[in-house]
Amino acid sequence: MSDATAAPASNFIRSVVEADLGAGRYATRRWAGRPGFAIEHRQGLPDPARIRTRFPPEPNGYPHIGHAKSIFLNFELAREFGGRCHLRYDDTNPSKEEQEYVDAIADAVRWLGCVWSDDSESNLYFASDYFEHLYACAQSLIESGCAYVDSQSADEVRANRGTLTSPGRDSPFRDRAPGESLRLFREMRSGVHAEGTQLLRAKIDMASPNLNMRDPALYRIRFAEHHRTGNDWCIYPMYDFAHPISDALENITHSLCTLEFEDHRPLYDWLLERLRERGFFDQPLPQQIEFARLNLSYTITSKRKLQELVTLSLVGGWDDPRMTTIAGLRRRGFTPESIRLFCERIGVAKADSWIDMGVLEQALRDDLEPKAPRATAVLDPLKLVIENWPQDQVEECSAPVHPQRPEMGRRVFPISRELWIERDDFAEQPPKGFFRLFPGNMVRLRHGMVIRCTGFEKDANGRVSAVIAEALPDSRSGTPGADAYKVKGNIHWVSAAHALEAEVRLYDRLFAEAMPDAGGRDAKLALNPQSCHVIRAWLEPSLRLAQAGQCWQFERHGYFVADRVDSRPGAPVFNRSVALRDSWGGAKAR
Ligand code: ATP
Ligand code: MG
Repeated sequence: MSDATAAPASNFIRSVVEADLGAGRYATRRWAGRPGFAIEHRQGLPDPARIRTRFPPEPNGYPHIGHAKSIFLNFELAREFGGRCHLRYDDTNPSKEEQEYVDAIADAVRWLGCVWSDDSESNLYFASDYFEHLYACAQSLIESGCAYVDSQSADEVRANRGTLTSPGRDSPFRDRAPGESLRLFREMRSGVHAEGTQLLRAKIDMASPNLNMRDPALYRIRFAEHHRTGNDWCIYPMYDFAHPISDALENITHSLCTLEFEDHRPLYDWLLERLRERGFFDQPLPQQIEFARLNLSYTITSKRKLQELVTLSLVGGWDDPRMTTIAGLRRRGFTPESIRLFCERIGVAKADSWIDMGVLEQALRDDLEPKAPRATAVLDPLKLVIENWPQDQVEECSAPVHPQRPEMGRRVFPISRELWIERDDFAEQPPKGFFRLFPGNMVRLRHGMVIRCTGFEKDANGRVSAVIAEALPDSRSGTPGADAYKVKGNIHWVSAAHALEAEVRLYDRLFAEAMPDAGGRDAKLALNPQSCHVIRAWLEPSLRLAQAGQCWQFERHGYFVADRVDSRPGAPVFNRSVALRDSWGGAKAR
């Protein structure tokens, strides 16, 4: 669908930006060099960024694959149109936010290759740095009669909000004098009032069919410590208030968010318009544009629900390779390029839909196929003894690092009398169409010679414990005699005396159901009990030197990465990133 040379696929947001730029809508903007009110921006030079977008995560968890969609959308749009994309932490909610998450988000964005700062601008912001600005805006809205302090209890506020089918009821405090509201608001800030006793609300319309316009809350009292401002504040702004103002302070032109905020857009516009009238901001104001969130099958894209899996130790942590957090995907062996490719393929639409997990997995295969070096791994080992091979004789075999890319060079590995092969490459009694090892049959040992099976041994339990074979003369791959042998089977192997024994983790999808949390269901009940299978495998000896984070294609098996956390020098641990083919639903590649 997409190839590297094609222009970026169009989407409706790109069209909006093109039209805005074509109409010169943002040409007059000035930029103070940092966020601020209009009075500051007016002193600045014309904004060097043709557009400004932002990625505004709340630091209450690790970012996930859904965030990647938003990250690429915002950063790519800015890059493409000569703009800037800001990384803004939306950290206005004190109790749930932590420094660990702030760091995890920056790591993820950086790892995905998105850049928020360079020599000329550093666009890393915290909404909590705007608390004074937000407070000033609130006071002004109160003075102009656009906001009031409501002294109803939380229950009364709720009861009077009305429903989708019935209008709300005005608060008895709605018409209180601005001077009185202002005094109460200042008292709220200074800690005079208890939590839940006072609420700052916008004065809009209690009968609006849009519930978000029924005098929405702007500020509430919270005696909570904030991860950056400590105990400086005991009132905190609501998202719907902080977000448009943060956008306007930062000169954002296109404020992209997911569809569930569509109903909040009238409030976004109402607030900025009121503040523009009062001189806080100039035209053109930022515009909110909604797009469909990513829903991915066999996983969940909600920080809160992912958090629960971590807290209950149902996974090994936020970076568990089964988690579709960016940290988990990275540890699983996903590359930034594969995630970018995935995001390009799914595109940006205006209607919610579900994307199949197979699309993400295929993006990884397509990214790794041309670049991953090849190696041999025997995951379910069975001994093979070549009885006519001298006991101490070791020879060298070689194979291309990548079959289509000779410039990547060749790899060498030893062959000797005893090898490990895959258990399922041997059959005592071959089923129909089985071309690999069985008594009397010939196969080629990949990059080695042709052998014929002459027998096998069983252990006390009747399980095959060794396969016996003879090497056929002049059959080495790459020698003139090799072509004389016509064999249908070609199996991989490693020399038993030389192979590297390593832990390999075969991962499967974390959930056994396509929509684990659909309809408000508890996703935990849909966990796949077989999502991690740890084995000891025998690997090509050179893999001893694997560096954490390096990936390979283990021939005939799939793509594997040396685990970033548990690998030790000389003793890598491998994660299966993805099997060679999509085997989900059919026979699992085990
Ligand atoms: P969560 O429910 O996981 O906490 P959120 O929407 O509350 O997600 P934020 O940190 O507030 O997460 O979001 C940061 C940005 O990422 C927002 O612009 C949001 O719209 C976007 N985003 C979050 N989840 C998705 C998703 N599944 N698909 C696309 N964009 C998303
Ligand atoms: Mg959120």
